[in-house]
Amino acid sequence: MFSSLHLFGKEIEVGKEYDGNVILPEDLNTVKRIELDYSQSVFVLEVGSDNFNLPEKTAYMYRLDGFNDEWLALPAGMNRLTFTNLAPGKYVLNVKAVNSDGYEGTEVSRLGIIVHPPFWLSWWAYLCYGFLVVLALLLARRHILRREREKFHIRQVEQEAAKNEEISQMKFRFFTNISHELRTPLTLIVAPLEELLAKEKDESRKSVLMLMYRNAKRLLTLVNQLLDFRKGEMSGHQLSLSEGDIVSYIREVCNSFLLMADKKHIQFSFFSGVESFPMAFDADKIGKVVMNLLSNAFKYTPDGGRVTVMLEHVEGERETMEIKVSDTGIGIPDTDKERIFERFYQTEHKGAGETTGSGIGLSLVRDFVGLHDGTVEVFDNIGTGSVFVVRLPVKHVDVAAELSEPVVELYGGRDEPEKMTEQTDRNHFPLLLVVDDNEDFRTFMKHSLELQYRVKVASNGEEAWKMIQEKQPDLVITDVMMPGMDGNELCRLIKSDKRTSHIPVILLTARQAVESKVRGLKTGVDDYVTKPFNMIVLVLRIRKLIELSRYRQATHAVIDPAPSDIVITSLDEKLIEKAIKYVEKNISRSDLSVEELSRELGMSRVHLYKKLLQITGKTPIEFIRVIRLKRAAQLLRESQLHVSEVAYEVGFNNPKYFSRYFKEEFGVLPSAYQEKEGK
Ligand code: ADP
Repeated sequence: MFSSLHLFGKEIEVGKEYDGNVILPEDLNTVKRIELDYSQSVFVLEVGSDNFNLPEKTAYMYRLDGFNDEWLALPAGMNRLTFTNLAPGKYVLNVKAVNSDGYEGTEVSRLGIIVHPPFWLSWWAYLCYGFLVVLALLLARRHILRREREKFHIRQVEQEAAKNEEISQMKFRFFTNISHELRTPLTLIVAPLEELLAKEKDESRKSVLMLMYRNAKRLLTLVNQLLDFRKGEMSGHQLSLSEGDIVSYIREVCNSFLLMADKKHIQFSFFSGVESFPMAFDADKIGKVVMNLLSNAFKYTPDGGRVTVMLEHVEGERETMEIKVSDTGIGIPDTDKERIFERFYQTEHKGAGETTGSGIGLSLVRDFVGLHDGTVEVFDNIGTGSVFVVRLPVKHVDVAAELSEPVVELYGGRDEPEKMTEQTDRNHFPLLLVVDDNEDFRTFMKHSLELQYRVKVASNGEEAWKMIQEKQPDLVITDVMMPGMDGNELCRLIKSDKRTSHIPVILLTARQAVESKVRGLKTGVDDYVTKPFNMIVLVLRIRKLIELSRYRQATHAVIDPAPSDIVITSLDEKLIEKAIKYVEKNISRSDLSVEELSRELGMSRVHLYKKLLQITGKTPIEFIRVIRLKRAAQLLRESQLHVSEVAYEVGFNNPKYFSRYFKEEFGVLPSAYQEKEGK
């Protein structure tokens, strides 16, 4: 018999609820089974028997079906069956009694025990789990499928894009090639037209030629723009900074629009807050920026309108140069203000059916301005029209850093190098004279060139001419346009005076016009540099010219005593010729002095010294001596005179000195020379 059931040490009463569950609806011996919760798995069952013969000796055996198959015996006198942590499941407890004689009873009492699983282990929980797993699998499958589909799609798009890109590249290549092909014939149309225009006197024919010229130029500009665009597409644009006066440069660019303004009856003006402003910029690109903005302004402004270009130097946190191009044209709607800088974007102009253009002009403007670290924006003009504002940060080219070659090595030259100190180093720097009427420009040039040269400045032609005579600079750099004596005039003066004609001259000009160059070249200018220029290029040219002039001086030994051999080509050579003639005439006089020679040639001793050194590489004393020696050589070859007689004949007091100098000059003693060469 089952006598009682204890749960967690408490006896369970019939009909009482425990945790919402009536465990014993009836007596333990009549109930078929008990049902327990997962958490109620620690319980004790007490058993007893109706054998009252030595009940304390009665033992019990039990078997829990569903847990073990064997009968287990409780120790004698024990009637409590304790179960702990029975796993959820169905069990049947079988119990029988064994009497004091060890006789096992045949009657077995049975009690079903059901331990309910916790909710997470219940069948519906498993059902849920199964459902969730299936759901997860389905979702995963869907996700993977979708991913694959997307990947495939992307691959497809990529392939398509690559194909399109290839096709567009092909088109572009074709485009570029054609543009290149067009450029040469166009140039060959423009150049001869320019020539014809210059010659043509007849007004009506001239206007026809002008029409052709303008349109050919326009075509050329378009083609160049296409090529520019292509270049930007392919390799990106490269900035090539030059130092120059941006104001005069932009003024020049604007000037090329005067004709168009006239034709379209558009009032075109240029203002600048500063007279001139030297800074570093890429002339080619800024030129194109201004031209694009201006040609748009003229294109979208009707006859009778106004176009204005304004320059302003803005100091502040970031020093900038502001270029404003404003027009009174059709204006740009707000929605388009950003987009017009995109490639190929063109606004739709109602009414204006003839929208010409390619839509790349402003995109190039933005690219070029961006290269300068600048910005470009568009605003509405007051009234009608638009204002394009370009802001360029002010920068300068660092010439010293770019040209850090040791200068002394290049120019140091003649003196014993071991004696050179810092100061004498500088004294060996070539002396440059910069002539320009703009003070800022002079300061800028002085500052940029000072590391490599001694620099003197003059503000006009007259002042410069005085300084040149006095200081005998190694090179002159002069602006063309100056009040009073201009650059061309100064150059003419320099080149026509025998004291200065050897000095190289570089003319700086803002004009690119051919005729001004021709004029300059006629006066004998050595080189031309168009403003704005690249400082590095200028320095390299200066270097070349000075080297060249020094080379000329060193090798220019036209000191052949035979006058008929001298070909007179320049003032310098005329001077040398004169000097030679005079020395020749007085060759037997040992007292022929440098003073006398300079007096004869009409220049000071110092001048003669410098001049001779520059042209022939020899001092006047050496110069005279060389002439004496050459004449001596001639006499040794052609006359019957003795060596000492020859020495006296050419003005040497002492035959011993004569022999020594002769050997120095010709490498042999006069007697040996006479033996070998004499008749
Ligand atoms: P396009 O070759 O067509 O001129 P751009 O890139 O130079 O190409 O200009 C893009 C568009 O911006 C033009 O189609 C025009 O509609 C507009 N635009 C440019 N400048 C002006 C302006 N000054 N006034 C009005 N619209 C302008």
